[in-house]
Amino acid sequence: MKLGASYFGNRTLRHVKKDMEKMIEDGCNLVVHTMSEHDVAYHSQTMIDIVQVSRDVGLEVFLDPWGVGRVFGGESFSAFVKLFPEARQRLSFTEGDINVNKACINSRTFRDKMSQWIDLAASTGAVGVFWDEPHLFYGEFTELFGKARKIWGCTCSTCKDIFKNSFGYEMPREFTNDVMAFRQETILNFLEFLSDHSASKGLKNAVCVFPFGEPKYGIYEWEKIVKLKNIDIFGSDPYWISYNESVGDFVGKVSREVVQLCKKYHKEPQIWIQGFRVPAGREGEVSAAIKTAFDSGVRNIASWCFEGGACMTYISSDRPEMVWDNISREYKELRKLTKVPKV
Ligand SMILES: [Zn+2]
Repeated sequence: MKLGASYFGNRTLRHVKKDMEKMIEDGCNLVVHTMSEHDVAYHSQTMIDIVQVSRDVGLEVFLDPWGVGRVFGGESFSAFVKLFPEARQRLSFTEGDINVNKACINSRTFRDKMSQWIDLAASTGAVGVFWDEPHLFYGEFTELFGKARKIWGCTCSTCKDIFKNSFGYEMPREFTNDVMAFRQETILNFLEFLSDHSASKGLKNAVCVFPFGEPKYGIYEWEKIVKLKNIDIFGSDPYWISYNESVGDFVGKVSREVVQLCKKYHKEPQIWIQGFRVPAGREGEVSAAIKTAFDSGVRNIASWCFEGGACMTYISSDRPEMVWDNISREYKELRKLTKVPKV
């Protein structure tokens, strides 16, 4: 049984150590540390030390490319998109070129950047890497006259060439079935590239997809990810509060689907629990979500994030201590139930 949380917002080692000890006391045996572009540039040795103190207290450690290139989840800025403007995603926009501040995941420059990120991750002693919500731009645009249009990335020259080679004709601007398939294939190919490289460095690969299998989210056939050779852990993040869904139904549905697919390919299912932006009075739902994931057969449960998001205004829960207390209580119950030995 793996129980954990993500951790960020602090790079002072003695404070990290205290928090890691607290995570153990609170029932965790897994931590996902974020490693942003800022960390790579300015905290490379600090990250190695952070992983070490986390391992020393008995936590299994994964690293997350938090907001790197703005194509993974994460409240972190990207210098990459400013330094390499030609490697940004271009949108399917008719009234002129629009490049957004997200890296094109087919860009060689960005892939080289990711290889460097993996090399640093491997040098820290972490057991694995966590690919969180890799995505391409998608939005809807309504003109002054006319109906709403779907605007998507990426339509840069590299992507256009790949599309033409795969489908035998020029990439259209419309969000057609072939475009949907191309975007999905782009993300799959990127994940394959990442996971092959990190596996060659001895790292495990965990991936988390948005909780909806719809084309606008990029990946709509989850099975194709689960099948990838070097993906060890597959999961999703059914954040019922963010998506305005009911906790039991949503977490249950997504968890069952993840478990079923993982069973088929002998992969480990993982479910993320919403422990951020929890409104006052709804803290009990966090406990319900953990129970639901467990009852659906998930044995790797992680919460985003440590202490209810208290360290960050943007994502903090109204009463973060209460959120974390509930998470901790549930984790301790599950440890009793599944007889996880004390570290
Ligand atoms: Zn592109």
